[in-house]
Amino acid sequence: MEQLNEMLKRFSNTHGVSGYEGNIRQLLEEKIKPYVDEVRTDKLGNLMAIRKGGHPSVMIAAHMDEIGLMCKYVDEKGFVHFVKLGGWFDQTLHSQRVILHTENGDIYGVIGAKPPHAMKEDERKKPVKAEDMFIDIGAKDQKDAERLGVIPGTTVTLDRQYASLGNNRVTGKCFDDRAGIVMMIEAMRLIHERNIEATVYAVGTVQEEVGLKGARTSAFGLNPSVALVSEVTVAGDHPGIEKKQSAIELSKGPSITILDAGGRGLIATENVIKWLKETAKEYNIDIQPDVAEGGTTDATAIHLTKCGIPSSVISIPSRYIHSPVEVLDLEDLKKGAQLLARAVETVSKHF
Ligand SMILES: [Zn+2]
Repeated sequence: MEQLNEMLKRFSNTHGVSGYEGNIRQLLEEKIKPYVDEVRTDKLGNLMAIRKGGHPSVMIAAHMDEIGLMCKYVDEKGFVHFVKLGGWFDQTLHSQRVILHTENGDIYGVIGAKPPHAMKEDERKKPVKAEDMFIDIGAKDQKDAERLGVIPGTTVTLDRQYASLGNNRVTGKCFDDRAGIVMMIEAMRLIHERNIEATVYAVGTVQEEVGLKGARTSAFGLNPSVALVSEVTVAGDHPGIEKKQSAIELSKGPSITILDAGGRGLIATENVIKWLKETAKEYNIDIQPDVAEGGTTDATAIHLTKCGIPSSVISIPSRYIHSPVEVLDLEDLKKGAQLLARAVETVSKHF
């Protein structure tokens, strides 16, 4: 467990927004290399770690990018205006400290907005929109900001360090999907120790948060027999959310996706569900069925590739998704990795 804790800490504290996954790719390559025969990167930046074998072939995919911001324009006073990369809830951004990744290195900034003192009564009742926020890097003017290395295109991530909570539960930024990356690495470690016939492609995909892009090109190139996406999913076990909205709970094991985005994203084919359920039962791994109305994953892009690739998602229940204080249970991550590895072991019986 300590190893998983250390690895998730490292991946969560490392930065990489959509399109700028280089640091994550490097770290993933370093960690996964001992367990595979070949590692390569495609033209869009997807990392493909291949364990050679026979038929069938299984693609495991986890996205390397995190939601973040990008500098759009620096005004004459040196304040940085930005665009959102990925699905931010605007209120989450308000008053955050951020890191700007410039060519000269990382610098700090804060997301500023009008203080309540300067607001009119009715203004105070409304949430502040991201378009009314800006980043203050301490610059005196536009030239000064440029001198600090901040220009249009500079990427920005939230400044939030990983921390441990009670009961193997941890908190940090971008567990979506660095926890999925760690779960994939751990699964490959388990697979490496066993005699498994199937070919395995472990893929770190790019640009998931902005349209499932890397999954599309990598799945097309690999054309696997089946695919499993390694992800996090919305837990509904805290105040403010009802079980009918999400029945998934922390510490009750990984979930498997039956359907997401109300069926507009992925509807997993019955043979995939059967495979995962039977495998979980055989190896005594508790699983939670995930039937979700909102949100989707790389599996949506993968399953529509070429003539169709049967796919599902194995997820770690996670609270406060798409915030810098996501919370998950490392035990769920560990069990998820076991399920992924066992699924690869049993795949030839099903496909
Ligand atoms: Zn994700």
